[in-house]
Amino acid sequence: MSSQPSYDEIRALTMADPKAKKSVSLKDYPTRGDKVFESKKDAMASLEEDALAINELQDALFAGKAGALLVVLQGIDTAGKDGTTKECFKYTSPLGVHVHAFGRPTEIELAHDYLWRIHAAAPRKGYIAVFNRSHYEDVLVVKVRNLAPSKLVEQRYEQINRFEKHLIENGTRVLKLMLHISKEEQGQRLKERLEVPSKRWKFNPSDLEDRKLWPDYQDAYETLLQRCSTAWAPWHVVPADSRSRRDAIAARLIRQELEMMDPKYPDPGYRLEQYKID
Ligand code: AMP
Ligand code: MG
Repeated sequence: MSSQPSYDEIRALTMADPKAKKSVSLKDYPTRGDKVFESKKDAMASLEEDALAINELQDALFAGKAGALLVVLQGIDTAGKDGTTKECFKYTSPLGVHVHAFGRPTEIELAHDYLWRIHAAAPRKGYIAVFNRSHYEDVLVVKVRNLAPSKLVEQRYEQINRFEKHLIENGTRVLKLMLHISKEEQGQRLKERLEVPSKRWKFNPSDLEDRKLWPDYQDAYETLLQRCSTAWAPWHVVPADSRSRRDAIAARLIRQELEMMDPKYPDPGYRLEQYKID
């Protein structure tokens, strides 16, 4: 399909500069996504094509077991971490994709270092792991709500960069997507959660407390975008006010990452002519 935006176009719009010397401003990143896809129809057509391609690439990844992909999804409540996962992998075999949602740490998890539960969920070779929230909560909610001493939080940016480099050097690619929505759009979605019976279960009164802390969360995101967008694992800021454009942009980035991995079916290890099936 010719109307799909190129990878370069999408990267130029979403990637946080790995060499940013000064602080990143989220205001420089659009929340709407209409620069990438003019219409929702274009976005949906592109998503359809990429979701099918992701399935094929994942099949070869699973067969060849040469490497793994970790997709990190971050975003404030209602940004669409669940929806993006559902749409991008809607044609992918559930055998090869593991989704992990990270909530408040358990007692056991808190008794370990914060990367312990994260590392344990990292994908095996041949698999894709999707993190719905991640180690980045340890420099987001933990920072904003003062859940750990600031000195410890401060050390985490470099620790995270080293951890991700470790994963990459050991065969796991890391794709990091921040789903970027406006405060107005979040307001709409929270209202919807209260109004639509099938969405009520998703509403948590603490979401409103986090909404009051909006500027602090924006600050915390800007800091991690500056400090943890690395050459080996850059951050992408995905415009997320429009669900269809958000999913289509995420799918383009996931497909590209898989194509760069270039997964291959393994040699079967036997000569075809040896076998005749009657
Ligand atoms: P949800 O994603 O809506 O199911 O909510 C999960 C909740 O767990 C969110 O409020 C997160 O901020 C919280 N959470 C995730 N990771 C951590 C963490 N490391 N420390 C404290 N809270 C966390
Ligand atoms: Mg929630």
